[in-house]
Amino acid sequence: MPMPHPRRSAALLAGALLLQGSALAVNAHAQQPAAERPSFFLVVHGGAGTIRKADMTPEQEKAYRETMTRAIQAGYAVLQRGGASLDAVTAAINVLEDSPLFNAGKGAVFTNAGTNELDASIMDGATLKAGAVAGVKHIKNPIDLARAVMDRSPHVMLVGEGAEAFAKQIGMPLVDQKYFFTQRRWDQLQQLKAEEKKAGKPVIGLVGGSEPTGTTQPRGDEALIYDDGARHGTVGAVALDQAGNLAAGTSTGGMSNKRWGRVGDSPIIGAGTYADNASCAVSATGDGEYFIRTTAARDICARIQYLGKDPETAGREVLDRIGKLGGEGGVIILTRDGRFATPFNSEGMYRGWVGPDGKVTVQIYKE
Ligand code: ASP
Repeated sequence: MPMPHPRRSAALLAGALLLQGSALAVNAHAQQPAAERPSFFLVVHGGAGTIRKADMTPEQEKAYRETMTRAIQAGYAVLQRGGASLDAVTAAINVLEDSPLFNAGKGAVFTNAGTNELDASIMDGATLKAGAVAGVKHIKNPIDLARAVMDRSPHVMLVGEGAEAFAKQIGMPLVDQKYFFTQRRWDQLQQLKAEEKKAGKPVIGLVGGSEPTGTTQPRGDEALIYDDGARHGTVGAVALDQAGNLAAGTSTGGMSNKRWGRVGDSPIIGAGTYADNASCAVSATGDGEYFIRTTAARDICARIQYLGKDPETAGREVLDRIGKLGGEGGVIILTRDGRFATPFNSEGMYRGWVGPDGKVTVQIYKE
């Protein structure tokens, strides 16, 4: 057998090393050793804001923890049996949408006109397909309609009556607006309207807000007063499935007392929701206007992808920018190698996660 020329074999070896080197460089952000990477993972949030232990009764806290746990378990069941991250995201979000506790689906906040207008979006990290709906009034589970927009229409985003016509066409039942009535959200609207009268300018309920009271704090935008006490509970989920695919979804009623067809970040791909197998999956909650202006979810993924940042740092950097502009909120972030972070710049954020061991963690305050 002819011996390879020594110079050629050195070149081959150098080439092989180079190749290995570039593969390492591409995966440089995957700091976790392969053996420690979970085969699947799920992170869920139930909204960020002024959520203080002092303002919550033990019963209220228990109810939030229990519902968060049920949502996480619903997503876990999908992932554990080898199901898709998209299905885990919708399963978890459906539980929160069906609960009156969260500002999504059943527990959605009221608009200034006394209606409920819901927004949601979902994204598939494997294909970059996405679906979103905004301003829908008769959809029990807006995340399911967002999913249908992605799977069954050629579009990414449908709004209002058009989105509901699409729902009808695909056989999704519409619900009466009465379905979304909860006394608590109605009272919050009345409280905001009273504050608005006093203030002589619009008062809108953006993020979070402790139970049952909160403070009205002017911040950021001079034209509006953001009441931080009258709402919380936008919901979202990010998942990694056993096939290695990421997905993200977000669902919300928006903010109390909103007007003029206002739409926040939650249904906007790149702002409130983003998923790309090349970087990460993100779902946001907070003062939507600021998350739109900073394209928050996509910026976090870009920092992870292009700068090799870890999820916590990437999330903090974007929240710092939002904070400087006057906004508040939080994000959940999950990478393809199972690293995750749940940073927020508000007082609290309902959040929780589960991996293959099935151990559910739920946190609410800063810990
Ligand atoms: N981001 C949502 C919105 O602006 C509200 C929230 O997350 O609390 O509509």
